Amino acid sequence: MDSFENFENKFYLKLDAKLINEGFARSMVATFCVQLNPSISEINDIKTAVSEAVTNSIVHGYSKEKRGDIEIYVGIKNNVVYIKVVDLGTGIEDIDKARQPFFTTKSQEERSGMGFTLMESFMDTLNVYNNADGGVTVEMTKEIKSNL
Ligand code: ATP
Ligand code: MG
Repeated sequence: MDSFENFENKFYLKLDAKLINEGFARSMVATFCVQLNPSISEINDIKTAVSEAVTNSIVHGYSKEKRGDIEIYVGIKNNVVYIKVVDLGTGIEDIDKARQPFFTTKSQEERSGMGFTLMESFMDTLNVYNNADGGVTVEMTKEIKSNL
């Protein structure tokens, strides 16, 4: 992926990992993407993917005992939207397992285990890794095709 500085346009957002902020983060990213004239369906895909990534950081990465921040980077280049969501929480023990459909470490009543599956199907690329200094980074891209 390109260095963040090399995008044609970009923004960066840092906010408290609180569920109340999830809708704000989702709307900010979606609103920024409007400059590429996406279809409603493309915007909804991006909203869902951001929502899933941010919710994961809040409910899995952090806890009541360990609160923290979420950083969101959004860049645009050649009609492609690049989104990076970073937390400094617990990290993921087995990323390949976590990405499987229906895999969840919470109870089945609480979570369905479909977050990563949704991100993967709604975006063109999905990259998930543990940060060297703790926590998780989720990188996603999507080409906006409906703006010709
Ligand atoms: P759903 O998203 O359907 O509500 P879920 O969050 O459990 O359920 P996924 O989003 O696919 O499902 O995530 C799978 C698992 O990966 C989670 O149960 C959790 O164990 C782990 N995980 C995901 N994101 C993070 C994160 N940011 N920090 C720590 N663990 C995470
Ligand atoms: Mg999830």
